[in-house]
Amino acid sequence: MQADDRDSRYVSQSETKDAHDCGVRWFGSWGLNYRPQHPESLPQRVGSLGHAALAGSMLSRGRDWAGTTAVMLDEAKKRGYLKPDATEDDIDDDLRRDMDAAARAAELMLSSLDFNPGAIAIAPDGTPLIEHRIRATWGMLAKHAGLHLPDGMLRVFHGQRVGMEGQPDICHEYARTLYVDDFKMRQQPDLGGTIDDLGGPILPDLQGSFYKVLLKAVRVGIGKEVIFRQLNVYAGAWLSLDDFLADGSSYVTSHGLPSRDDKKLGACVTADVWAEAWRTLVERRRVESTNAVTTTGKPKPIRMASPAEMRDAEDFIDTLRRQKLVHVVEQRLDHTVCVEVVRDMLAPVAGLLAQVSAGIVPGRNLRTYRNAPCSRRFGCPVQDQCIASIGTGQIGDTLRNLAADEIRRRLAVLGTIAERELA
Ligand code: SF4
Repeated sequence: MQADDRDSRYVSQSETKDAHDCGVRWFGSWGLNYRPQHPESLPQRVGSLGHAALAGSMLSRGRDWAGTTAVMLDEAKKRGYLKPDATEDDIDDDLRRDMDAAARAAELMLSSLDFNPGAIAIAPDGTPLIEHRIRATWGMLAKHAGLHLPDGMLRVFHGQRVGMEGQPDICHEYARTLYVDDFKMRQQPDLGGTIDDLGGPILPDLQGSFYKVLLKAVRVGIGKEVIFRQLNVYAGAWLSLDDFLADGSSYVTSHGLPSRDDKKLGACVTADVWAEAWRTLVERRRVESTNAVTTTGKPKPIRMASPAEMRDAEDFIDTLRRQKLVHVVEQRLDHTVCVEVVRDMLAPVAGLLAQVSAGIVPGRNLRTYRNAPCSRRFGCPVQDQCIASIGTGQIGDTLRNLAADEIRRRLAVLGTIAERELA
């Protein structure tokens, strides 16, 4: 099962997403609390470690990197990448690579002038709002945030969901503005965010709306304008000189020079590394051409870099030096709009709870396109059970039995721990 502390008495943004996405997925994860653990993908691991590194560094205030590895080590244990008693010596090469990528992304973010956080906002209980879980009951949401749910919805939630919860990455204040920041660790050099930042009318962001309503309900940022920011930072691989100089390197063009094509490179490279690769490959091409002959046996001209090639290289090095590795997208959210968006996010959860109360097993939203959550490996936590049960009509009973087995297993573990404590 997932090593997390999600509490299904409060509706989270993840629950609204699952409910909107697929009834069976929601039924397994939130109706029955059955969440089989799957290995996390590389972007997920780097994202989790990067968030931990950033939070640890922000909390230390002095941007002190001494404790970053320790913070990431704790996160790796919490997420099950390492055993609880592991030390730095137990970090394998893959985890080390992911930790390095996460630390580098956190460093990029903290050194970016676009990030530039103000004073960290403080929760009503005195906790700094950095990766801090906020909870509000329906009463608080109605009274302070104006989220008045229809009676029918409140009747369905009664006894099953007491309010909403969320964990913004960081909330900070500057003058009369409260910033709610969400970090996105991107694996591709194209940092385009999910929020349309091209100007003109844009749709309200679901995550930003959810946080804005929640923060108002707990009386954070009262009287301030709230701005939701998506901070995209590059957390992918960096090409090395060896990548370009290796025999048959896929990063080298048919002209024997380092590629300038973003798609072909597929990862970031520093201007210095690319410049050195260009210089070395031009020299390699020159040396090779000194012995080259035509089909008639005449020596070929020695191949130096042409003026056009030199100009293209200078332009590309300049582009790399100016490349933005942090891309911030801001969204001002109208509170009335946010309240309506949140009501719409909650409606599918209420609908599914009502179905289950009426004895109806929610339906699948089976998608078959390439890379769909139903076909992509580990694209859905109950994918194996869902797909295996197609044609049996037994998905409801299958998930209930698995959830019951899991509860029995947990109780057995608790019993063993209690016996050990009493011995
Ligand atoms: S595999 Fe697809 S249809 Fe099945 S539960 Fe997951 S998301 Fe729903």
